[in-house]
Amino acid sequence: MKFLDLTKQYQSIKEEIDTAIKRVLDKGVFINGKEVSLFEEEMADFCQAKFAIGVNSGTDALYLSLKALDIGSEDEVITTPFTFIATAEAIANCGAKPVFVDIDSSLNIDSSQIKINEKTKAIMPVHLFGRQAKIDAKVNVIEDSAQAIGLPLSGTLACFSFFPSKNLGGYGDGGMVVTNNQELADKIRLLKNHGSSPDNKYLNLVLGTNSRLDTIQAAILRVKLQYISKWNVQRKEAAQYYSNQLKDIVKVPDNNNIFHQYTIRVANRDKLKDYLRASDIPTMIYYPIPLHLQPVFKYLGYQQGDFPEAEKASQEVLSLPIYPDITKEDQDDIIKKIKEFYA
Ligand SMILES: *Cc1c(COP(=O)(O)O)cnc(C)c1O
Repeated sequence: MKFLDLTKQYQSIKEEIDTAIKRVLDKGVFINGKEVSLFEEEMADFCQAKFAIGVNSGTDALYLSLKALDIGSEDEVITTPFTFIATAEAIANCGAKPVFVDIDSSLNIDSSQIKINEKTKAIMPVHLFGRQAKIDAKVNVIEDSAQAIGLPLSGTLACFSFFPSKNLGGYGDGGMVVTNNQELADKIRLLKNHGSSPDNKYLNLVLGTNSRLDTIQAAILRVKLQYISKWNVQRKEAAQYYSNQLKDIVKVPDNNNIFHQYTIRVANRDKLKDYLRASDIPTMIYYPIPLHLQPVFKYLGYQQGDFPEAEKASQEVLSLPIYPDITKEDQDDIIKKIKEFYA
């Protein structure tokens, strides 16, 4: 069994994808062009937002959003310690200080514990595994929506990833920033393309970088965007099927979720993981080390015990295979083995 089988999805839309790729090859425009601008418009619509800007990755979407808000050294950005490294990495790469706040039982940042001071320039919540983090703040909110395509824009900016394993995955790297703020949208457009003036490529207005979304990826993602709502429903159905069968045995996730991951919590997690692996059932641990305990963030001065909920979660979480094309047979095997383990 595979944890994630991307070939099944490709086979189901192969003709449309191949046609889209061929269209780009035949046209010979590989950077920017119509495919990218149309995909941006379609994503803005999908997120019920005014502007969408394609970038190179979800990581760059976060980084460029911080840059667009002029966040740098001396500044602090509040985020969760229970996420993928990219969230806090983007903050630190801007020269700002990531300030962690513990999570609650939803596995998202506990907004009741957020304390804003004069250095706090933004909050970067993560909609972890596809469950919406609710933030009501007086500072800018940069949503890390890498795992949450399907949720409408709720912050100042929302950052998406098209990493192949994400709900809307490309066939390579890609990302997008979505916002209703024209000034920020224009700034990200400049930053992602060497600060080049829209009217004159060789007039560089600000210090930028190269973080464009590939034309081929945009063409592929335009095809896949048409299916994302259906795929998100299929994920939800698969999740419901797991939950109905497992809810009396393990702690199952809340149904209010688009299920990028289906993550259960159990006390003897590592034993269960080994047991399932022995039956050819792959599982994943997202995330085994909370960010405040990562060597790279040692300089921030956090210690074991600082965020007990995040630390506990990292010991208890186990993600089961979930994707739109997962079969009932595979799910039944997984459920059976989990029940067997607890019997
Ligand atoms: C995948 C992911 C990212 C980074 O996206 P890339 O496109 O791989 O750079 C950032 N944050 C979270 C929570 C993610 O899951």
